[in-house]
Amino acid sequence: MASHHQLIAFILLTHTLTTLTWLIGGGVMGLSRRAARHWMGASLANGMALLLLVQNQHDANVGRNLLSATLAAWGAFGFRRGLQAFLRLPTRDALQAASLGMLTLFTLGLCWPMAWDTAGSLTAVAISAAVLLISAHQTHPALSAEFDASTAWVSTTVHVLAVLMFVAIALVSQGWTPDAWHAVMNPDVMRFWVVFTSVGLSIAGSFVLGYVVVMRLVRRLEYLSQHDALTGLLNRRAIETLMDKEAQHLHRFGDPFALVLIDVDHFKRVNDRLGHAAGDLVLSAVASVLQSQAREVDHVARFGGEEFCVLLPRTDGEGARLAAERFREAVLATVVPWSDESVSVTVSVGVAATNDPNEALHHVLRRADEALYRAKAQGRNRVVTAQRRLVA
Ligand code: GH3
Ligand code: MG
Ligand code: MG
Repeated sequence: MASHHQLIAFILLTHTLTTLTWLIGGGVMGLSRRAARHWMGASLANGMALLLLVQNQHDANVGRNLLSATLAAWGAFGFRRGLQAFLRLPTRDALQAASLGMLTLFTLGLCWPMAWDTAGSLTAVAISAAVLLISAHQTHPALSAEFDASTAWVSTTVHVLAVLMFVAIALVSQGWTPDAWHAVMNPDVMRFWVVFTSVGLSIAGSFVLGYVVVMRLVRRLEYLSQHDALTGLLNRRAIETLMDKEAQHLHRFGDPFALVLIDVDHFKRVNDRLGHAAGDLVLSAVASVLQSQAREVDHVARFGGEEFCVLLPRTDGEGARLAAERFREAVLATVVPWSDESVSVTVSVGVAATNDPNEALHHVLRRADEALYRAKAQGRNRVVTAQRRLVA
């Protein structure tokens, strides 16, 4: 039958592609390496299970049928194990390996020689279905937390459809389909569609996995492009984007905002005296002090070198001055242990607030910078607030 050969070609093509995708993605590109290994195995096992199933429908054979059901179970275990690795969920490898080993022994070691086709394949189907349901239950909350509810639901739907598919395959291959169905669809056609849908579902599963792997990568890159590697604070590019948004808010809604520029005093001395590593540690300490002193709505960034910037939305000059004093005092009170020493630093702070929708952002920044310059000139370890630009 032509459809039989077409199905085989289809399975070979799709499953070779998905297997190669995981081989290249995990092995060469290093994407979620451990998970990719399991998914590669699952795709291989699934593809072989489907090929055997097609061949079996053409020419029934107990051994082939049992091998197909067992390979499908290996696929289900691999799919789940990969998801566990990807989502860093707790695993019980010994239990999983033992279950899979026992199932394989039972189906291929016992049922095959005894020609217990029904018992063997139904056991394999029941275990595969259970593994998939447990997997859906375990991975749904983790996917929802890392990605979003719809991603979690798509994954759960694919899991549940796969369970239904396992049941359909069992019913069709055991010939347990109700007679009423045969009036609508001839068994050969039904078998074709069961396998065809299984291949589709297998591809949908790989697609969901590919999606979450790529999404994680995209988010990671997005994070790296917006954060400073040493302190974990926002970087200059990210805070400038947020400043732009605040300027637009001021323009549209009249919400004021303030910028606080903070520069560590005589930081070069720390580096010169204790080394660059000590300097890095001090910078990280200052960063966490600033972050902990800021409100949740504020944005703290490393502006470059030993200079930080805090963007205070909906804050006027007086509010910003108070916040800046709080930052200065908190840094002053911080002691960073380094070998036998306790290192402490001070900061100079320049503050500029604006409530003028016509004031350009670069102008506010320049006022803050000039205020910081004055704080340095006046002896450091102090806050200077820039002249307010009043709205006429
Ligand atoms: P001032 O009080 O006038 O600000 O003096 P300063 O020594 O803090 O200023 P200066 O601009 O002369 O020196 C800043 C130093 O910060 C020089 C630079 O090597 C150091 N620095 C910049 N980025 C880093 C970093 O990521 N890690 C370390 N350890 N040092 C850094
Ligand atoms: Mg400095
Ligand atoms: Mg500086």
